Amino acid sequence: MAEYDVDLFVIGAGSGGVRAARVAAGHGARVMIAEEYRVGGTCVIRGCVPKKLLVYASRFSHEFEDAAGFGWTVSGAKFDWPTLIANKDKEIARLEAAYHANLARASVEIAESRAVVEDARTLRLLKTGARVHAETILLANGAHPVLPLIPGAEHAITSNEAFQLAELPRRIVIQGGGYIAAEFACLFHGLGADVTLVHRGDEILRGFDDDVREQVRSEMVGRGVKVILGQTIASIEKQAHALQAVLANGEHHPADQVMFAIGRAPNIKNIGLEAVGVQANAAGAVVVDEYSRSSVPSIYAIGDVTHRLALTPVAIREGHAFADTMFGNKPTKPDHVNVPSAVFCDPEIGFVGLSEAQAREAGFALDIYREQFRPMKATLSGRATSVLMKLVVERASERVLGVHIVGEGAAEMVQLAAIAVKMGAKKSDFDLTVALHPTAAEELVTMHNKS
Ligand SMILES: Cc1cc2nc3c(=O)[nH]c(=O)nc-3n(C[C@H](O)[C@H](O)[C@H](O)COP(=O)(O)OP(=O)(O)OC[C@H]3O[C@@H](n4cnc5c(N)ncnc54)[C@H](O)[C@@H]3O)c2cc1C
Repeated sequence: MAEYDVDLFVIGAGSGGVRAARVAAGHGARVMIAEEYRVGGTCVIRGCVPKKLLVYASRFSHEFEDAAGFGWTVSGAKFDWPTLIANKDKEIARLEAAYHANLARASVEIAESRAVVEDARTLRLLKTGARVHAETILLANGAHPVLPLIPGAEHAITSNEAFQLAELPRRIVIQGGGYIAAEFACLFHGLGADVTLVHRGDEILRGFDDDVREQVRSEMVGRGVKVILGQTIASIEKQAHALQAVLANGEHHPADQVMFAIGRAPNIKNIGLEAVGVQANAAGAVVVDEYSRSSVPSIYAIGDVTHRLALTPVAIREGHAFADTMFGNKPTKPDHVNVPSAVFCDPEIGFVGLSEAQAREAGFALDIYREQFRPMKATLSGRATSVLMKLVVERASERVLGVHIVGEGAAEMVQLAAIAVKMGAKKSDFDLTVALHPTAAEELVTMHNKS
């Protein structure tokens, strides 16, 4: 043991790396963790947390509009972007400090530096040039947003910069069809920006249930987000006081900001992985086995750099399972089945399990239960919106394979429905559960008509 400086060296103090480091240290391992930017990683610094804070901010505008039907007059409401960003930054700094403190309390040594791999058991800290010999290396170094190779791409922003803009763009063109693009389109729109969402596919949110995709797009359009499908931004021109996003079809869209949310690439370049023989797959992610071990026996990888399911709770579970396996004498495989997920667009999406298309592709004979209804709040607010709930049920066993919800509170509802799905609940178990009235969620247990 003494031939190594540490038992475990973790590259990246994000969601997965921090959990792995703390749990390994708790099992008695000597652990060092390197972070080149800010402790907390994507989720805390420029992902889930700041995004949700901005989503909360953006939804006040809808509440102000809805309030009139309930008798309220909301006058003089004004929004100040610098106040929001300053308060958000304060909260992120608080969380970052808490992460530092928790690592220190667990006796994990933090190296505030970029780390690169020199050989299967040696790291170099670029800030000081110091070498560290580690018995085991864990890659928990995440992913980064990609920009397209188009003229003027240097004028564009990604989600990284969107959280730090000096002012709220009055007009923004966003290219992307995934959840990050949808969320930013809705949050900028809610804050008062004129938003154009450009997506090269024929529908946004690929991989989501088709009914959900259609419903969310049409509600986004109804609320005022311009959605252009089957197009890409071909170039960006910089003008005196604005940008022009030029689409492949030649259309010019003036904007204060042009944003790309077209995907995130695992951070596998320029850290020495090729030289030591760590294998990557076609998606550019580190290939790992069920215990997160790479093709080099002393090097493991978790979280976004493995591109299994790029979500914070998944990276955390993978990090925890790795630490229990390696240092806790408790071999544990991370479980990627029935992981619930949400999109904080407007209206919100929550889902767990298989979409109808995925279930059919997997060969299941299905019963589909689908309800679309006007939420009670909309009766007085007058908002043109509806809630969608859909259960994908395997006909023979009656097992609920998927729950899909679009509407206010969808994420909170699905977290709970996910427990039932994970336990293997049947449609009859949903039916046996008495409704909680008056809620939107009660529809989940009162769906009787197959569609
Ligand atoms: C805008 C946005 C919104 C998101 N919203 C959600 C959400 O609502 N819910 C959800 O579950 N997930 C969300 N995600 C995804 C989530 O943030 C990631 O899945 C999660 O952070 C992955 O954790 P990780 O530990 O793998 O990597 P990260 O959290 O990215 O941490 C990797 C860390 O490694 C550091 N690093 C990289 N290379 C080196 C090196 N060579 N040396 C030292 N340090 C290095 C990086 O600086 C970074 O801090 C969102 C992501 C984005 C971008």
